[in-house]
Amino acid sequence: MVTRHASCTCGQLRLVAEGEPIRVSVCHCRACQRRTGSAFGLQARFARQRIDIAGKSRQYVRISDDGEPRTFHFCPNCGATVYHGADSAPDVVAVPVGAFADPDFPAPSVSVWESRRHAWVTLPAGIEHVP
Ligand SMILES: [Zn+2]
Ligand SMILES: [Zn+2]
Repeated sequence: MVTRHASCTCGQLRLVAEGEPIRVSVCHCRACQRRTGSAFGLQARFARQRIDIAGKSRQYVRISDDGEPRTFHFCPNCGATVYHGADSAPDVVAVPVGAFADPDFPAPSVSVWESRRHAWVTLPAGIEHVP
């Protein structure tokens, strides 16, 4: 089974993910743009029991547009988010794909919040679009 390692920028907060992600998605929402400092968020979901976390983290809770709390776990030293989740799905952990720094990571299969997509962003052929 494939094992992938993710970490924050400074390497203090790390995790190991066993197996392939349940889902890889691109999110163009404004909150993801602000969180990542990029044009969109790219995240992979894994079953919680397939994730092994090490290091200190702090949490930031953001209430989604649907009124649902989303908790972001970030390194108190460098500030990078290494995993996040939703209260409604405690068995699932989302990991920002950039934290793996792996160009061979599986491509996203779904693209959400496309109403906020930067006009120049082009997505892979065959991806599922959610406005
Ligand atoms: Zn760090
Ligand atoms: Zn988003």
